[in-house]
Order: sequence, then C-alpha cells, then structure tokens
Amino acid sequence: MTEEKEHLTTAQGAPVGDNQHSITAGENGPVLIQDYQLLEKLAHFARERIPERVVHAKGAGAFGTFKLTHDMSDYTKADMFNGVGKETEMFARFSTVAGESGASDTDRDPRGFALKFYTNDGNYDIVGLSLPVFFIRDAKKFPDFIHTQKRDPRTHLHSDRAKWDFWSHSPESLHMVTMLFGDRGIPATYRNMNGFGNHTFMWVNADGERTWVKYHFKPKAGVKSLSADMATKLDGENPDSATEDLYNSIESGDYPEWTMYVQLIPFEEGWNYKQNIFDVTRTVSQHDYPLHEVGTMTLNRNPENYFTDVEESTFAPANLVPGIEPSPDKMLQGRLFSYADAQRYRVGANSTQIPVNAPKTAVHDHQADGVMGLNQNTGDINYEPNSFDGIKEDPTVKDTGYDVNGRMGQYVTYDDDFYTQPGILYRDVMSEDERERLVSNIAASLGNVEEDEIKKREVTQFYKADPDYGKRVAKAIGLDMDFSALD
Ligand code: NDP
Repeated sequence: MTEEKEHLTTAQGAPVGDNQHSITAGENGPVLIQDYQLLEKLAHFARERIPERVVHAKGAGAFGTFKLTHDMSDYTKADMFNGVGKETEMFARFSTVAGESGASDTDRDPRGFALKFYTNDGNYDIVGLSLPVFFIRDAKKFPDFIHTQKRDPRTHLHSDRAKWDFWSHSPESLHMVTMLFGDRGIPATYRNMNGFGNHTFMWVNADGERTWVKYHFKPKAGVKSLSADMATKLDGENPDSATEDLYNSIESGDYPEWTMYVQLIPFEEGWNYKQNIFDVTRTVSQHDYPLHEVGTMTLNRNPENYFTDVEESTFAPANLVPGIEPSPDKMLQGRLFSYADAQRYRVGANSTQIPVNAPKTAVHDHQADGVMGLNQNTGDINYEPNSFDGIKEDPTVKDTGYDVNGRMGQYVTYDDDFYTQPGILYRDVMSEDERERLVSNIAASLGNVEEDEIKKREVTQFYKADPDYGKRVAKAIGLDMDFSALD
C-alpha cells in the first residue's frame, strides 16, 4: 500500500499540479479560460466577504464556561440558573458599535457585550452593552440614530454635527451620552469592562411565579478605562489593542472572568415602581434593588477560525429559553425582530447550522432546505403534526406572559424625566476629576459643531440635569448662553 500524502487540491478535492503559474497560450500568450483552477481561486476570493454588520462590525470573540454559584430556581426555571455548580458552555463577542470592521478598538463608543449560552434547553443569548442604558427607548428611532453615528452620506466622514443634532433633539439620550463621554466611554480592554443586559427581562420559576430581572457582569480584572489622550495614542500604535489583549490573555492562560449579578424586582412591584422599569434609558437603583450574585463567566478558548467562529456568529435577544421571557420594553421588542432579521440577510436562513451558532441540544423544527442547508432537521418528515416521527410540543414551556389592556395607538413613550438620573450620575457618582474629563471630552466633540442652535439645545439638556454641568460645557465650548430663562 502506498503511503497517503497530503496534496494541495482544488475545492473539489482534485490534486493541483502547479499553483504558481497560470496556463497561457504559448509562453508569452494570453491566459486561457481553460485554467479552471485559476478561475476557481479568483472567483472564490471575490466572494470571501459576507455583508459587514451594520452596527458592531469590529469585534473579537472567545469560548468559555458559565458556572452557577447561586441557585436561582426560586426565580427562574431556566436550566442554566438551576443547580449550584452547573456549568454551561458559552461563546462571547465584544465589539465597538459605529466603526467598520477595521475600526479602532479605542473609539469612544459603547462596547457590545454579546453572550451565547449553550443550555440544556437550547441557546440563550444576552445581547447587551458595556454601559447599562441606551440612547433611545423606542426601536422606531434606531435607524435614524445609527445614521448619525455612521458616516455622513455626502462627505463619508463621521459627523459630530449629526450626532449632537440627533441627541439634542432626543433628550432621552442624555443619560447614555453622559456615560459615554465619562471615563467608561473607552474601556481599556474587553477584560476590563462591565457588561449589562440593559433591558429588563422576565424570569418565571417552575410554579409560574414571575420576577423582573436586570443583568450585571463585573470583570474580575476590574473596570479600567482609557483617557482620551491615551486612546488617541494607542489608536496610532495598535488599533487592535483590545482584540489582541483578549486573544493573548486567553492563550497565556490568564482567562478573563466576570461575576454575574442580577437585580430582582418583584413582579407587581415592578409595575408600580417610581419609574418605568422597561425604559432602557434608565437604570434601576441598586439601593432599591441590590445586586445578587449568580455565577462566574470564564473565557478560556480562543476561536480556531475568526471567520467561522466570530464573523459568522449570530446573537439575538429573541434567543430565549423556558424560564426567561421578554418584558414590554419597546426597544427590546424591536430588537426581538431585527437581530434575527439582520442575520438572515448577513449569514443566511441556515445560520443556526454553523457550529458556533448551533445549539448543543437536538433540533426538531421541521424547517427545510434553504441556501447552505447542511444538516436538515427534518428526517423523512418535514411537517407537523404528523403520525410518524413522534416529535411533540411541550405544553409546559408556553410563554407565561402578563396582562395587557388599553387601546391600540402610538403612545408617547414612558415619562419625560430625562434629567434626574444623569444629574445623580454627574453629581453623586462621578468624582470632580471625572467631571472635568467629561466636560473636556464633550467639548472636544460638541465644540466641532458650527450651529449655535444645536449647541444651545444640548447644553440646555446638560443644564437641566445639573446647572453646573450645563455651565461648564458652555464655558468649555465658548458658548454665550443666558441660563436665567431655564431656572
Ligand atoms: P449606586 O451608587 O448603587 O450605583 C452607582 C453605579 O454607578 C455603580 O453601578 C457604578 O458601577 C456606576 N458608575 C461609577 N462610575 C461610573 C461612570 N463613570 N459611568 C457609569 N457608571 C458609573 O447607585 P444607583 O444604583 O442608585 O445609581 C446611581 C446612578 O449611577 C444612576 O443614576 C446611574 O446614572 C448610575 N449607574 C447605575 C447603575 C445601576 O444599575 N443602578 C449602573 C451603572 C451606573 P461600578 O459598581 O462598576 O463602579
């Protein structure tokens, strides 16, 4: 028997004789269309890219484990939160929001904090951010908001004017803007940032009892940030610094870890709390609802292939499991649709068959075919109900839900207290040093806007959160403003 050797092959597996020289008609003649191996290489190369994510295009990911340290069965029947010591395999992807795939890791931007848990009841995704709130609270505003963060349609440059024009017209953004331009707007690395589920979700236990829940992840390496100057310098030296740090720390065995906590809000109390707990521009005070430790998330394995593991990974807030249900948060409700929709466009209708996205549990969905369909889940029978395959519904896992009433309509979303929480953040949470940096960071961006009208509208928001905040920003950008009318 001859020893089997590895040959260079075509995509069809046929051995390749010469991978260096195209076939030509004579030594100096044109290249022949007969060189199908050349055509195959060039044609595949032209198709190497899939559409970039419209948001969160620049990212890094890693596999890991979630270990439950505190049993949560009093609050949720979700498998991964039941039974101290239970370990659930997971994948995480971190990202910036506005930049393209090659953008800098040091941009001032919230970081995506997307987690996929391969639970015994199917995949559960938490698709959150490094900051606890969001700029808007109704998904209908999302495309407009993102247009202001991406490139200007005429100049193809990022536009401070568009950002502040939108923000100043959308005062619900003030809380997030204050966090973004504060120290935590540029995390030092992905290992040194908090993670949040942002929205309020509903947990349901085995007895059908409901609790509202908010997720917090705190890095064991501590929260560390970059100043604006450090970020600019690092951008020049190594724009992939966070990507590199995540990879290298895992390769060297210094595994990034986060402790997971939850705020638990009793179901009825949640409806009657002093603020709307479904408004994603607000936090829920930890004095009223303290953090309860749940478990530890450890990232311990780098992807084998960036494209198949990270670029083709898909996360969606709609990837829920029994025991976890959505709240009526209007931003969340829009995201329940738009993530899976984006993935059908970007990766295709069969994206869940790609290993990083595939649940570790059996899939019996009777969905059939489609582009790149590999492991069809239909067996011989692709319809339900049927007399043959024995696959039945499980009536115990129907959504529990909550009562709704009222008239269909387009309601003004939540209340208009845009100022209390940014005011607390500015006065009581930030140090004087951080307030100075906040004002300077805002001035470096808002100061680029030509139109006084936009600057005055935004400074008015700062002033309403705290007069000192408004006055200091006005001074830093040289804006002459009469504040007496606002008192
Ligand atoms: P607490 O004093 O219990 O919480 C203060 C929170 O602020 C902590 O979570 C702290 O995070 C966080 N924090 C510290 N510095 C910054 C910063 N520069 N940017 C963003 N967050 C920061 O009080 P409350 O829960 O009543 O919250 C008070 C205010 O704190 C809120 O109005 C909100 O602006 C902000 N906040 C609240 C959070 C919440 O979930 N309740 C979460 C984050 C911010 P850490 O523990 O990591 O230092």
